[in-house]
Parts: sequence; structure tokens; C-alpha cells
Amino acid sequence: MSASFDFDLFVIGGGSGGVRAARIAAQRGARVALAEVLGNDGLGGTCVNVGCIPKKLYSFAAHYGEAFGESHGFGWEGDRPTFNWATLKANRAREITRLNGIYGNLLRGSGVTVFEAFARVTGAHGIALSTLNADGSPGHQEFTAKHILIATGGTPHVPHFVGREHVITSNEIFDLEPFPQRLVVVGGGYIASEFASIFNGLGSKVTQLYRGDQILRGFDDEIRHFVAAEMVKAGVDLHLNAGVVDIRQTDQGLRVECEGGARVMADAVLYATGRVPNVADLGLDAVGVALGAKGEVIVNEHYQTNVPSIFALGDVTNRLQLTPVALGEAMVVVDQLFGPAAGKAPRSMAYEFVPTAVFTHPSIGTVGYSEEKAREKFGEVTIFRSEFKALKHTLSGSTERTLMKLVVDTKSDRVVGLHMVGAEAGEIVQGFAVALKAGATKAVFDSTIGIHPTAAEEFVTMREPRAAPQ
Ligand code: FAD
Ligand code: NDP
Repeated sequence: MSASFDFDLFVIGGGSGGVRAARIAAQRGARVALAEVLGNDGLGGTCVNVGCIPKKLYSFAAHYGEAFGESHGFGWEGDRPTFNWATLKANRAREITRLNGIYGNLLRGSGVTVFEAFARVTGAHGIALSTLNADGSPGHQEFTAKHILIATGGTPHVPHFVGREHVITSNEIFDLEPFPQRLVVVGGGYIASEFASIFNGLGSKVTQLYRGDQILRGFDDEIRHFVAAEMVKAGVDLHLNAGVVDIRQTDQGLRVECEGGARVMADAVLYATGRVPNVADLGLDAVGVALGAKGEVIVNEHYQTNVPSIFALGDVTNRLQLTPVALGEAMVVVDQLFGPAAGKAPRSMAYEFVPTAVFTHPSIGTVGYSEEKAREKFGEVTIFRSEFKALKHTLSGSTERTLMKLVVDTKSDRVVGLHMVGAEAGEIVQGFAVALKAGATKAVFDSTIGIHPTAAEEFVTMREPRAAPQ
């Protein structure tokens, strides 16, 4: 490792990708520093603080609401308990603080020097930190590093319109006060759809406004329509082709005016209209690091920018914005810069067959190609699908239905897409993702014995293809 620099690697950002890269690089013997602008409270980044983890905890909370109602068919009696928003918020905050501490211990235990500071790139090997001195006055420190890794993530993007100042984003929703009896959610992506389901489950009257024809653009069309219908059945008031014109504060709450004249009253309006890369004031333009149209850091297949000593990964590169993707990318960068783990080959990252889940109620789990994308790529495809009422709902009284779908490349018999809407879709699809990565054919699926009685067994018992469209 080079002694002519203060550090071998300087990581900017203590989120999913940054923490993983710093920790593993230090374990491989590199001299590593990491700057996180939010200090210890920010360690873990978006996912831990205002993303995956608190979101999933709130989704569990919402599921209890359904579960109490459904328990009567199984013999449980008594009134539905009341929901205490303050308890959920406090317990979540405690758990997140615990996780922040674990991240800090992991970093420091691996020998990483952690700075509570906003970091800026000052040159191909230079980093400047804006810190606070012990007396609270602003401080400044400068360091050099052989390699710099930009892992600054992204931030919610709210478009400009009249009344923008009244809305909140996913950053604020977790601590919203008071609990919104009426919530309007704008957007049709992951975040909008998940929070529409979660707050509906927690007891809000939720209206979801989406500007296009159907939510969750990019997912398999049939899955999109199916989940939207299930969300509506569960109580979400979904308005499609409903762009927002303006939002005004009135005596009765926030008045959201939609294109076409519809008006919705709300206690809170959540904008979930995408995220933009965190590059403001990072100094990248001065150093000549090329950025894309949305401000994303442009990298090659080695996560290297056009300045060879500067690398970037995760959400700031605006590709697949998922925590496991940022973690995978971090491992590849570390293997490249400091060598792989003893006895292991260098890791690589492939973006095909990345599984993902949307934690709507019911949830979506998906891996591989949608039917539409598979037709474009492979030509002829054979579709297997199964739609049913899950065993639990034969007694629960719920009308929720499950959809499972396989997309098979007809020529090779390879299963190239696997999609599900239903309970625990993410848990189920994770396992099948291994089979799709391994190139499993439909014949392999057919020869696999199911686990009975589960919903997942449907994936290995679908025998009859869906009739081709006339
Ligand atoms: P981040 O985790 O965003 O970390 C970047 C860090 O850099 C932040 O801590 C920030 O404070 C810090 N920083 C920024 N600029 C500077 C600077 N100049 N100096 C010092 N520090 C700086 N993904 C999933 O896989 N599953 C999910 O269920 C899921 N749910 C999500 C729910 C929500 C509401 C959101 C918003 C996201 C969700 N994601 C989910 C996406 C996931 O959180 C991101 O893909 C992941 O956190 C990206 O990691 P990252 O390391 O690139 O950036
Ligand atoms: P997405 O990109 O998923 O969705 C953004 C939504 O906002 C789309 O429906 C988009 O519509 C709409 N939109 C964009 N601009 C406007 C506008 N100006 N006016 C009205 N609507 C607009 O972003 P999210 O913010 O939901 O999430 C960001 C990323 O975080 C996700 O892509 C995902 O990678 C990650 N994430 C992952 C989760 C998981 O793994 N479970 C959960 C949450 C987030 P259109 O489709 O028409 O462009």
C-alpha cells in the first residue's frame, strides 16, 4: 500500500455501498477513511435510516392490522386493538440507533478512520472535510488518498409546482406528526406504492395519484395490473392519469388539485417521484469527473470515473437503486483495488437477473425479464401462470388473491422471468433467483418436488402454458 498518500482509500458516504467498501478494504490491509456528513446517526445511509429497514418495520406494523381482522375466521375473538403511532415511531428510532452503532463498531473495529464531516473532492487524490471543532465552530481538514470512492447515494426529487412547500418526502414520513388520517401519495414507483399500502394498512385513508396509465412502470404488465387491483381492493384509492396541478392549505387541510379537476383533501401529501444523485457541492465538476444528465457519476465496468483514481458506486451512479446492488458493487471495487479475499476469485457483478421485491400489500417479488421485455429479447416465449386464493384466506375472510407467473424462452426452455404478487413474495423469489441465475429450464422446474402446502410450490407445478393471445 502507498505511503505517499494519507490513505489508500477515502470513501465519501457511509451508506450501504460506502460502509461495505470501507470495511472490507480495511480488512484487506488498506489504510481507509470514510466521511459521513450525518456522523454516527447517518451510518448505514438511506437504507438503514430512511429506507429499507424502517420501511419494512412499518410494513410489518401494517400487516398486523390485517392479521387481527383475519384472525376471527380462525376462532380468535375480541375487538381489534388500537394502533399507537408514537410507539411504532419510538421503537423504530431505537432500533435504527442500535443499527447505526453496529455500523460504527464494524467500521472502527476493522480499522477504518471515520469522520463526521461533509466531504468534497479537491483533486484526483485530494479530499477536503467540513467539520465542527470541539467548540462548535466550523473546521476544515484536508487529506490525500490514492483512491477516492464516491458513495454519496441519492435524495428525493420533488418537481416544481405551486404548493411544493406543503409536501413531504420519504425522508420525513417516518417521523410524521400527527399520524395522517388522510394521506395523498403522489407517484407510481416503489416508494409511492409501498407507502400507499403501508399507511392504508395502518389506518389512513390513502389516495394514490399517478400520472400514467398504470403504476410500477417497468414491471411485468400483468403483475402491475394485478397488484394495483389488489391494492384497490385493500382500500387504496388509486387514481391513474392524475397529475397534480397545485396544492393549497385550507381550513380543512391540504387541497390537492388534479388535472381534470378532481380535488382530494389530505392531512399530508407524500411525494415519491424519484430520487436524484447526491453530487451537490462535491467538487466533481472542478476535478473534471463526468456526470450524466441527472447528475449521476458516470463509471465504466470497473466503477471507475474518467478520473482514474476516482470511483463511484451505488445510487449516486443512478443505475439499479437497491441496497444489495450497492453492496455487490462495493465488493467488486475492493477486489479490484486491494485483491480478492484469500483463496477466492475476484468478484464480478451482473445486472441481469437481479431479484427485487416491492413491499406493497400484497407484495411483489420478481426476477428476470417481464413478459414484454422477454418477447423483445428472446422472440417466442411461453407463459405459465397461476392465480389463486391462498390457503390462509379460505378461513380469513380476505378476498386477496395471489398471482404467479413464469416466462420461458421457448427455444431454449430456459426460465427467464419469474414474477409473483402475494404474501412473502420477496422471501419466495429470493430462492428461485438462484435457479434463474443458474440457467434452470422449465424441465428442471417440472422435475423439482414442491413443498406442500405452500404458495411457492405453484412455481414447480404449473404444467399448462397460457393460451397464446388470439
Ligand atoms: P446511501 O445509502 O444513500 O448512502 C449515502 C450516504 O452518503 C448517506 O448516508 C449520506 O448522508 C452520505 N453523504 C452524501 N453526501 C456526502 C458528502 N458529501 N460527504 C459525506 N457524506 C455524504 N433498497 C432495497 O434493496 N430494498 C428496499 O426495501 C429498499 N427500500 C427503500 C425505501 C426507501 C424509502 C428508499 C428511499 C430507498 C429504498 N431502497 C431499498 C434503496 C436503498 O436504500 C438504496 O439503494 C441504498 O441505500 C443505496 O446505497 P448507497 O450506498 O448508494 O447510498
Ligand atoms: P421510482 O423511479 O421507482 O418511481 C418514481 C415515480 O414517480 C414513477 O411512478 C414516476 O412516474 C413518478 N414521477 C417521476 N417524476 C414525476 C413528476 N415530475 N410528476 C409526477 N410523477 C413523477 O422512484 P421512487 O422514488 O419510488 O424510488 C427510488 C428508487 O429507490 C427505486 O427506483 C428503487 O430502486 C429504490 N427503492 C427500492 C425499494 C425496494 O427495493 N423495495 C423500495 C423503495 C425504493 P413514471 O413511471 O411515469 O416516470
